[in-house]
Amino acid sequence: LTLLGLESSCDDTAAAVVRGDASGSAHILSNVVLGQSELHAAFGGVVPEIAARAHAEKIDIAVEAALAEAGLDLSACDAIAVTAGPGLIGGVMAAVMCAKGLALATGLPLVGVNHLAGHALTPRLTDGTAYPYLMLLVSGGHCQFLRVDGPQAFTRLGGTIDDAPGEAFDKVARLLGLAQPGGPAVEACAKDGDRAHPLPRPLLDRPGMDLSFSGLKTAVLRARDTLIAAHGGLPRAARADLCLGFQSAVRDVLAEKTRRALAACPDVSTLAVAGGVAANGALRSALQDVATEAGVTFTAPPLALCTDNAAMIAWAGLEAFAAGARDDLSLTPRPRWPLDTASAPMLGSGK
Ligand code: ATP
Ligand code: FE
Repeated sequence: LTLLGLESSCDDTAAAVVRGDASGSAHILSNVVLGQSELHAAFGGVVPEIAARAHAEKIDIAVEAALAEAGLDLSACDAIAVTAGPGLIGGVMAAVMCAKGLALATGLPLVGVNHLAGHALTPRLTDGTAYPYLMLLVSGGHCQFLRVDGPQAFTRLGGTIDDAPGEAFDKVARLLGLAQPGGPAVEACAKDGDRAHPLPRPLLDRPGMDLSFSGLKTAVLRARDTLIAAHGGLPRAARADLCLGFQSAVRDVLAEKTRRALAACPDVSTLAVAGGVAANGALRSALQDVATEAGVTFTAPPLALCTDNAAMIAWAGLEAFAAGARDDLSLTPRPRWPLDTASAPMLGSGK
């Protein structure tokens, strides 16, 4: 099967062509991502109206580039997969409208894909990971543990009750005068730290797999202000120790909750991670240790497939399509779309 995938739910306009079969063997024929970070840079965050307009302007260009790079005509594809949510609704609409236009023009079937399913199924695209597996999704907008039993079978075991870790990294970077995106900046600064500033480990004392990062961010703010009051400024070494302390706290809570999630799923043999925060070296090595301890394989997709892209959407669409999922022109973009099968179906047009 060959699928074209489209994605425009946040601040990346993306299109990709993936060929494979649902057993988990896949080839990425092209993977085009047109970022918008320079458009939003001045505003300190993604501006929905700017994002929507840029997606509408660029989605056709991304599709043409993806087909050209794959060396294929649209007629060589079996279906068109498109992110139908969750995300910024004006953005989601851009790819959905484009996909509908292409489906109408070619008669190709349409498959609406949940963006989170795209992230959650990425280890199948990159490593052919067998079901069931445990997925830790850690990004700028999400943090959750998912048990993945099939392309349309997800169980949410727990997740953040407030901020996502990527968001917390970004806010901490802002508090400490570091560059955006905050994750890489905080990680680089932490490398210079030699004594991790003591910070709380939120929710560790409570059972279950839920997490919280907003209190940790406030703790960094307080520590910063105390240091500034004591030194008349934030000394470089103190800032590095604060970054190290913050990163260690995030790492520790994620590692411990992952340990618990694995214990709750004794039949899984793989721990997978996805999302931009999975780029963090300290987190990766802690998760590797947790996996080794539990006797399971650890897998982390290459970074370009950890962050938003359309190859993961094409792949999730391919698995769903192979399982019989089809949408039509009534496919509705959704701002919210929980992945858990108990709360909502993953696929279908939202009818
Ligand atoms: P989502 O995909 O959930 O809608 P998003 O697009 O903001 O959200 P991603 O693109 O997956 O998320 O990841 C971006 C986030 O990852 C940013 O918050 C960034 O700070 C964080 N990040 C990137 N590299 C690192 C790193 N080395 N350490 C920690 N965090 C990182
Ligand atoms: Fe994403």
